[in-house]
Amino acid sequence: MQILKLKKTIIYGPVNSRRLRKSLGINLSPIKYKVCSFNCVYCHYGWTKYLTSDLSDFEDELPRPGAVKKALEYFLEKNLKLDYITFSGDGEPTLHPDFEEIVDLVIEAKDSLSPRTKIAVLSNSSTLHKKKVRDALKKVDLSVLKLDCGNEEAFKKVNRPCCSVSFDQIIEDLKNVKDVVIQTMLVDGKNGNLKQKDTDDWIEKIGTIKPRSVQLYSLENPPADESVGGVEKNKLEEIAKKTEKKTGVEVKVY
Ligand code: SF4
Repeated sequence: MQILKLKKTIIYGPVNSRRLRKSLGINLSPIKYKVCSFNCVYCHYGWTKYLTSDLSDFEDELPRPGAVKKALEYFLEKNLKLDYITFSGDGEPTLHPDFEEIVDLVIEAKDSLSPRTKIAVLSNSSTLHKKKVRDALKKVDLSVLKLDCGNEEAFKKVNRPCCSVSFDQIIEDLKNVKDVVIQTMLVDGKNGNLKQKDTDDWIEKIGTIKPRSVQLYSLENPPADESVGGVEKNKLEEIAKKTEKKTGVEVKVY
């Protein structure tokens, strides 16, 4: 199996997602190379070529808000019976400088052409300190935000963020997102986050954030770092049970 190729279009799918059922994806990243504020060891799009939280140098390669709306309308006019329209793609969607405006336009298109479909954002949580991102997330039906690690050391090893991203800031920001659903990838190996201390610290952070629920999963596709491996489902179930017992937060294993 190989690393997945970058998406070549703004809209992709619909895909049958384990977590979001029938979902039409929106990709707001450049199509020629991977740009992200993280460089996760498990990323199935390979290593991040440009590690940054600032996409101003890439503006010419980002889709314009009007182009996103038009591309979405083209798909919605096909009457696809979707469960979700999902901001995801192969980078971090909230890094797009016009993210809030795009969310408004996507809501507009959805309300007129597919009113029952919900809108989800999958994000790595690195931009929650920006008011415009927080405001945009308040407008969507579901915010699924990443927290793979419970301490800074593991965060730097697994997510390898760009220098402007602070682990403590992310934890504080996550506490303030209403109805947040946390998504967590666990991977094994020396660069993974499966050590006892790492999972104990992560459970403690889940207890302080008190999300609506947690989505726990492991590798489904080849990772950027070949030294990390997947985690068996029964191990994930064991961690899920322990988390629920200690925090009272529902944890679903995928
Ligand atoms: S945040 Fe997502 S896109 Fe960015 S490196 Fe991690 S897994 Fe890949």
